[in-house]
Amino acid sequence: MSIAESPVFTTLVPLHPAAYSELAARIDGVVSTPSDVDWNTVRLAWNLSADQRPDAVIAPRHAEDVRTTLYFADEHQLRVVAQGTGHLASPLGDLAGSILLRTSALTGITIDPDALTVRVGAGVLWGDVTTALAEHGLMALAGSSPDVGVVGYLLGGGVSWFARSMGLATSHVTAIEAVSGDGRMLRATADEESELFFALRGGGGNYGIVTAVTFRVFAVRDVYAGMMLFPMERADELLSAWESWTRELDESAMTCFRLMRVPDLPDVPEFLRGQKLVIIDGAVAIEQATGMPVDEAERTADAVALLAPLRALGPFLDTFGVMPVSRLGELHMDPPGPVPATGDGVNLDELPHAAIDVLLRLAGPDAETPLMLVDIRHIGGQLAVAMPGGGAVNRLHGRFLLFAGGMSPDPESVDALHAAVATVLEALSPWRAAADYLNFREVRTPADRLYPVDTLARLRAAKRRYDPAGLIRSAHPLH
Ligand SMILES: Cc1cc2nc3c(=O)[nH]c(=O)nc-3n(C[C@H](O)[C@H](O)[C@H](O)COP(=O)(O)OP(=O)(O)OC[C@H]3O[C@@H](n4cnc5c(N)ncnc54)[C@H](O)[C@@H]3O)c2cc1C
Repeated sequence: MSIAESPVFTTLVPLHPAAYSELAARIDGVVSTPSDVDWNTVRLAWNLSADQRPDAVIAPRHAEDVRTTLYFADEHQLRVVAQGTGHLASPLGDLAGSILLRTSALTGITIDPDALTVRVGAGVLWGDVTTALAEHGLMALAGSSPDVGVVGYLLGGGVSWFARSMGLATSHVTAIEAVSGDGRMLRATADEESELFFALRGGGGNYGIVTAVTFRVFAVRDVYAGMMLFPMERADELLSAWESWTRELDESAMTCFRLMRVPDLPDVPEFLRGQKLVIIDGAVAIEQATGMPVDEAERTADAVALLAPLRALGPFLDTFGVMPVSRLGELHMDPPGPVPATGDGVNLDELPHAAIDVLLRLAGPDAETPLMLVDIRHIGGQLAVAMPGGGAVNRLHGRFLLFAGGMSPDPESVDALHAAVATVLEALSPWRAAADYLNFREVRTPADRLYPVDTLARLRAAKRRYDPAGLIRSAHPLH
């Protein structure tokens, strides 16, 4: 029976490891099962708080391995979950009854400097792409963290430091290679398999397993970027000032306002350890993405003028200056490797003073809270405008993206953080936008919170067409 014909239902009885020997003989990739000595390492996600217990972990070497794995899963009534890194592992649950398909061996970065595109394998991380592109004087629309997977980020949208002037990263994807849930090897572009192309650009990984993706890159070398640090006691005044500053802000600037309780850990610089801070970090584009010559000194002076109102607030540390775009991955101080983390994020339409009061009561300097950080990214600009020919997510709703969370090394801290985050999000509900951003939702979210009705109908049609048996399980399913 083919995948398309067989109704898939998940069995909660793990398949006997011996059955996987048969799969191991059929693929070039690696098959790991609970009987392996290193199983407790192999099954880990980047987010160490996600206790994933799949039936097996398969690391395919190429698209043919992916297809064989899908057929195997179908034969044995298992579902398949693709994972690049596991940054978004929390919404997946324990993965019982599923094969975890780890894409890390699907590597390869092919840069075409003339066409200004790059093709990357599904296992490639942003840091590797950024470094490879910098050697050609090019950059891509990477997010804040170098160890996020390129494909997972693009499937959800992709908010880079250039997003306010260039839109979502996924709007710059030109081709996606995937094995559909019903086992077809497809290349999706604006002209071929266009509904799959639409669905995969923002609609998550619901329709198949992506094996490679091609996207546009830009002739940009430098950026004006950095961070300003203030004591958290000034959060009320600073958040109001930052919010006002963002209202008429030029699209070239993208910043994030952070309430941060810095952990008292040895690898944190001593003068910051244990401090409660407000951090405003971000980037201002000073080169034209077209590669057209610009007067960099003039653009830098523009960036300085643009940031002057923030500087006038008197940070005790200010690192803003010209830097290579390839160093933007250091800016946001995201953890350099796997950590146990719990959090969630939503879109906000507005941040009036009433909302600031509510937020600071729960997470400000005087709050007793397990939250390590609350990040508020200012969006709008080109992110508010539907990109012509864009995919399922081609704009973001609201003016701000808020993410709250912290480190959760044990089950008690997971529970405490879930409760603290839920309280903050509930208190801010009067200002919530019409839809949230998939990549920032780290708890299972109903699909109608992520997509408008017409988009959701199109995505469900794509699911029926490319994964009719429902073999593929993803971080945010469509029901
Ligand atoms: C520290 C940190 C910083 C971040 N910074 C940003 C940021 O600046 N901007 C931003 O937009 N987002 C950011 N994110 C969110 C990030 O984009 C999402 O978590 C994204 O889903 C991560 O992709 P991944 O491949 O690394 O994660 P994974 O958990 O491996 O993948 C996420 C989901 O994508 C799907 N998927 C992945 N690979 C495939 C595949 N090959 N085929 C089919 N489906 C697949 C699956 O459904 C999977 O569950 C950040 C997250 C963290 C934790």
